[in-house]
Amino acid sequence: MAGSTSDEEFLLAVLNSTPVVAGVLTDRFADTAAARAWLAAAGGSGSEAELRHLLRVRPLLQEVVRGHQPPDVLGPELRDVARVPVLTDGHVRWTLNVPAEREMAVRAILAWDQLVKQSPGRLRPCANPKCHRFLVDHSKPNTARWCSMAVCGNRMKARRHYQRIRNDDAR
Ligand SMILES: [Zn+2]
Repeated sequence: MAGSTSDEEFLLAVLNSTPVVAGVLTDRFADTAAARAWLAAAGGSGSEAELRHLLRVRPLLQEVVRGHQPPDVLGPELRDVARVPVLTDGHVRWTLNVPAEREMAVRAILAWDQLVKQSPGRLRPCANPKCHRFLVDHSKPNTARWCSMAVCGNRMKARRHYQRIRNDDAR
């Protein structure tokens, strides 16, 4: 379960793997070889089955975070998953008991659950309706609206500015 990527980073990368780029919906995992290499680097095995399971869970998670589906749709993906206590060096450590090829898909779901429990209302879709990305707001006032100020923030601001100028012209 150890990987170089934190669970939150992993979840966000999965959620944000279908961005709209230049007006076109893209899939960062469409290149299977690259997607499997990314999974391996994130702590998985990089197997074909592992990617398949993750691709099944991805749209479910996206729809749940958008509020279009109830979290219950994720239930079947957690079937036969168990946490097992292991005593090491006098301490109990919890390990996940799940078929290897489903581990990364389950990790994404557990990371989502952890995030909504620990930081309720912090994970949300980008306010740019044409973006398709998600953000985790770590700011104190919890008012971030864009996946990235550089990408969507400036674009939406520019659009509002442009509309304001046009409205002024029309007057
Ligand atoms: Zn965005």
